[in-house]
Amino acid sequence: MEIRKLSLGQMGTNCYILWDENSLEAAVIDPGFEDSRILEIIENNKLKVKYILLTHGHFDHLGGLNQVKAATGAKVLIHKNDADCLIEPKRNLSVLVGMTFKLEPADGLLSESETIHVGKLNIRVIHTPGHSKGGVCFLVEDTLIAGDTLFNTSIGRTDFADGDLSELLGNIQTKIFVLNDNIKVLPGHGENTTIGYEKKHNPFLQGRS
Ligand SMILES: [Zn+2]
Ligand SMILES: [Zn+2]
Repeated sequence: MEIRKLSLGQMGTNCYILWDENSLEAAVIDPGFEDSRILEIIENNKLKVKYILLTHGHFDHLGGLNQVKAATGAKVLIHKNDADCLIEPKRNLSVLVGMTFKLEPADGLLSESETIHVGKLNIRVIHTPGHSKGGVCFLVEDTLIAGDTLFNTSIGRTDFADGDLSELLGNIQTKIFVLNDNIKVLPGHGENTTIGYEKKHNPFLQGRS
């Protein structure tokens, strides 16, 4: 598996492009803002982008979606509980920054524990609501793409309308911290980390058993 990370836009949203190096089938995860670097990576590596995967439906993870979709014809997948974020500016929070951000409906909806196939890669969907109702992490090989569920020594905000702090902490505890300590965590904002490091150092999750 190959992965590239790009930090996009003023909010520094991390976009990940991952692919199977044999078939060159690829997925673009959270194309947060339009940025020619996404398309450059796709072109330079001759990638066949099968899916645009969304960790959740907030606008800062969707802004480059139309650009990538138009260039590649990839299918857009989002968890069913965040599906309305694509078509409802209030739900994707773009109204909070004075925009009304509206997209086409998704091409497919994700559910807990589902596996998405990209070449020989198996990408498992782990539903971790708390930052948003349809928030998911994607587990592929030894890598967890965590969206805004878990950050390096932090967690996603839970003060939006569809946030819930105790739900988020519970999901990190029961669905993420049960994974192997060596698993790399690639978050929706900021620096990479690992499960083991966060278990030890994440201040939001200390003293919980
Ligand atoms: Zn978010
Ligand atoms: Zn975000």
